[in-house]
Amino acid sequence: MDRLRRLWMSLLPFGFLLFFSSAFIGVPGALAWSKEGHVMTCQIAQALLEPEASEAVYQLLPDHVKGNLSALCTWPDQIRHWYKYRWTSPLHFIDTPDNACSFQYSRDCHDPQGVEDMCVAGAVKNFTSQLIHYKEGTSDRRYNMTEALLFLSHFMGDIHQPMHVGFTTDEGGNTIELRWFRHKSNLHHVWDREIILTGLADYYDKDVSFLLQDIERNYTDGIWSDDVTSWNIVMISLSV
Ligand SMILES: [Zn+2]
Repeated sequence: MDRLRRLWMSLLPFGFLLFFSSAFIGVPGALAWSKEGHVMTCQIAQALLEPEASEAVYQLLPDHVKGNLSALCTWPDQIRHWYKYRWTSPLHFIDTPDNACSFQYSRDCHDPQGVEDMCVAGAVKNFTSQLIHYKEGTSDRRYNMTEALLFLSHFMGDIHQPMHVGFTTDEGGNTIELRWFRHKSNLHHVWDREIILTGLADYYDKDVSFLLQDIERNYTDGIWSDDVTSWNIVMISLSV
């Protein structure tokens, strides 16, 4: 359990990092961080894993990705429309009542049919719970732990994209059309991808590794370093 708890501790802070960094950085039109956002989320998270958690992740990943978690962090977006996984589609976001600038789990965490826990916060909670109970060498027939890892890694990114928790009728900003510099876009897409791509072009010579270095600097000895302790507190409250 400690192994996965440490994994969770590693994943959680990055969600906050990505959230705060998104002021400088910006998908596919639908409801997900862009590929770039999810890949960065998982690259930073994996670099923070302690050895035991790192080994657990390595064991859970399929051989062909050679231990690279970020190679599969967009997988939940790729399969969400497959018949088998269609049930996961509401897990990428939360719709709150229009003009309700708060999130209430009991009120808001449900799918359009009202099924409870079917939102991104419920998904984070449930996949975390599955992984916490993972023990190496045992097979839990109820859950596929590899899928749980990939879903959790992806949804920790999604939940920190501000437009993934938005008003119901504007579909998380998807129906709010605007211009992003010289082309048409919408508010959701701006947050998912436009800010990232523009930031990369304007400040990082289109090199994601430079942006990653900047983010890592911010939480090691930069402006977010004092916040790391509070991220762990949030983690503990969620995992008990
Ligand atoms: Zn998503």
